[in-house]
Amino acid sequence: MNSRRDFLQKVSLGIGVTALSGLPASANNSPEPFVRPEKQLRVALMGLGSYATRVAEAMQSCKLATLAGVVSGTPSKINTWKQKYNIPDKNTYNYQTISEIKNNPDIDIVYVTTPNSLHHKHVLQIAAAGKHVLCEKPVADNAKQAREMIAACEKAGVKFFIGYRMHFEPHTRELIRMREAGELGKIMHVNNYMGFKSGDPNQWRLKKALAGGGAMMDVGIYALNGARYATGEEPIWVTAQESKTDPVKFKEVDETITFQLGFPSGVIANCGTTYNFNNFERLYVIGDKGFAELSPAFGYGPIKGRTHLGPMNQPVVTHQTLQMDGIADIILNNKPDPNVTGHEGLKDMIVVDAVYESIRKGGQKVFINKV
Ligand code: NDP
Repeated sequence: MNSRRDFLQKVSLGIGVTALSGLPASANNSPEPFVRPEKQLRVALMGLGSYATRVAEAMQSCKLATLAGVVSGTPSKINTWKQKYNIPDKNTYNYQTISEIKNNPDIDIVYVTTPNSLHHKHVLQIAAAGKHVLCEKPVADNAKQAREMIAACEKAGVKFFIGYRMHFEPHTRELIRMREAGELGKIMHVNNYMGFKSGDPNQWRLKKALAGGGAMMDVGIYALNGARYATGEEPIWVTAQESKTDPVKFKEVDETITFQLGFPSGVIANCGTTYNFNNFERLYVIGDKGFAELSPAFGYGPIKGRTHLGPMNQPVVTHQTLQMDGIADIILNNKPDPNVTGHEGLKDMIVVDAVYESIRKGGQKVFINKV
């Protein structure tokens, strides 16, 4: 990643770029070389699958976070990662030895990137070991588990984050800024969807015991979380409908779900998610003064946006680089958290529970209790 793009990323995040990266305050053509900050957040990745691989690559461009360790059930992966990322033996663990990480002063935080239904168990283990924890979405299988994870982290005195990378992404941040500044006026409607055609019929994502649920859990959560940041409100009721066109492949988990979220202001967000078709990715928020549309809105990008004022011109970034530097900035420099704590994961799980309850009850309106 080039220095100018790095600079723009930092500016968009509000990170103190001059102090941290060694770049001059005004980006010119010959920035000074990167000066490693005195303190970096030392991260261990847990579950070395496809997303951990993407995060590790993205972290090579981080300024504030560094890949320091791994947790894996596959010895061959540990060997490959040790060599590729120069990770010492003493910073490698498997699922049986993970509690020993508490004695390792060289790891600050563990990033849980295992299948969804293992998040609860793994976050409890990391908290018990006294390390901060960043957990991938969905935070858990349900709100009950999410509450237990939050309680365990609070008891252990560790910070608990969720991998909501969109909250660091510049188009998304600009949309939130515009809404907060009143530039869209009073929000009147939201229309979000996120889905894709899933491939391998044998993957864990289609097995309830490991995935917790289907499309709703995996990517519907983007449409739901997006409705919350597009309105700045918390939903008070939910209705939902499920359709299943391939009951063999999607025997255990949901295939396609549409859901509606009712907010205290009276706004309704109409949302959808699927595991069975592509080209289903958009966030559209309409106010009485204007609108903002992101499409694509939630994938790895490039995210594209337009508003009533014209095309959005935010920089294209590697989401995971920005997320990991952002989390490091929150922990190391007490920077404000852009809604990426475990509590945000819990708020979404409460709504996910309500979505499934509404479907079980034939689309009945389910009212949501406060967190
Ligand atoms: P993968 O299947 O590619 O990787 C999961 C890894 O978890 C495995 O490689 C394995 O690593 C470990 N693991 C431990 N126990 C099991 C088990 N019983 N079955 C399978 N794997 C196991 O999944 P992804 O990387 O795609 O997804 C992991 C998590 O990341 C999910 O929660 C997903 O929702 C989230 N994700 C988030 C994305 C985002 O954009 N924020 C994008 C993609 C995924 P090892 O062999 O090292 O133990």
